[in-house]
Amino acid sequence: MNTEISKTIHFQPGERNVFLHLLTACNLSCRHCYINKEQHGSMQLTRDQIESWLRLFADETKKTNVILLGGEPTMHPDLPEAISIAKKLGYQVTVDSNGFLFHDLLHRTTPDKLDFLSFSLDGPDPEINDAIRGEGVYEVCTTNIRRAIEAGFHVSVIYTVSRKNISHLHRMGALLESLGVKKFFIQVLGLRGKSAESNSEETSQVSREEWLATVPGVAADIAARGIHVTWPKVFLNEDETFQCAGNVAENYFVFPNGRVYQCPLCEDYPIHSFEIKNGQLQKMGELREDAFFKLNIAEGCVMNKLLQPDTIEYTDEGTPLCRISCCLLKQEIGG
Ligand code: SF4
Ligand code: SF4
Repeated sequence: MNTEISKTIHFQPGERNVFLHLLTACNLSCRHCYINKEQHGSMQLTRDQIESWLRLFADETKKTNVILLGGEPTMHPDLPEAISIAKKLGYQVTVDSNGFLFHDLLHRTTPDKLDFLSFSLDGPDPEINDAIRGEGVYEVCTTNIRRAIEAGFHVSVIYTVSRKNISHLHRMGALLESLGVKKFFIQVLGLRGKSAESNSEETSQVSREEWLATVPGVAADIAARGIHVTWPKVFLNEDETFQCAGNVAENYFVFPNGRVYQCPLCEDYPIHSFEIKNGQLQKMGELREDAFFKLNIAEGCVMNKLLQPDTIEYTDEGTPLCRISCCLLKQEIGG
């Protein structure tokens, strides 16, 4: 067991994250997919829209990360150009891919433009991963992770924890080490999109006991292999302060239909803060997600209480056993 202590990554004033969904189409059909085409549309941004929307959020005075995602962003033929434009505008650029790397991405961009290439893998072997992400996906994804590392890209892996795969999380350390991956993100399953509609093992969150008994310890063990590990805080200790990122941080989740959310938990509802219309960022009317950010409740995150009330445990007197942190608050260790 690694004895290194993990730390909370507090929200940094002035740091901004722009999650730009270039399209909602995808070649896969993951059991827990969070894309909701009714709410986010099925369009694909044009090359001109990508440039104009990247300019809308660019700010030379602030460190801004842009995460290019989808759907599957490598299905967009202009992704390499989008990476170049984002880099020229001063963004730190990440692409989140399911691993298929369409349109020959590794030969059409370079590691000096793309700061991180992130791959989603939900199991340490085909049996676990492919039950969630589809047959043959493990093989393609791990092959392309190796190719990307050989080509000099900084590669990270994202593992979304569900009841199906939590007991296999500890086996990821050996796999990541053998692949040469140095950055690992553990993600909590969001009850959005498909996960909100079904309750199979692949689409069900784990309990507080299971999460706390597994995730921090496994993260420490993986970090002992020289891998930097990040995971959501989820449960706040008594001495920790609750903060809603919607009030104290700048995060923009931008969808191809123009909707811009500040909170990912709100993405299944038409309560987005802004909309991009005619190339301009416009504030929406009264019923916006930020009305919820201001509410101060004993359970911590208001949207979690509204959308995922079963995740909160109470004493017999009706007091929450523990507050739920903002879903954007992370812990990190190692690296
Ligand atoms: S979770 Fe990502 S990779 Fe899987 S189907 Fe949805 S968009 Fe595609
Ligand atoms: S997840 Fe909760 S705390 Fe975080 S931005 Fe959304 S409403 Fe605020």
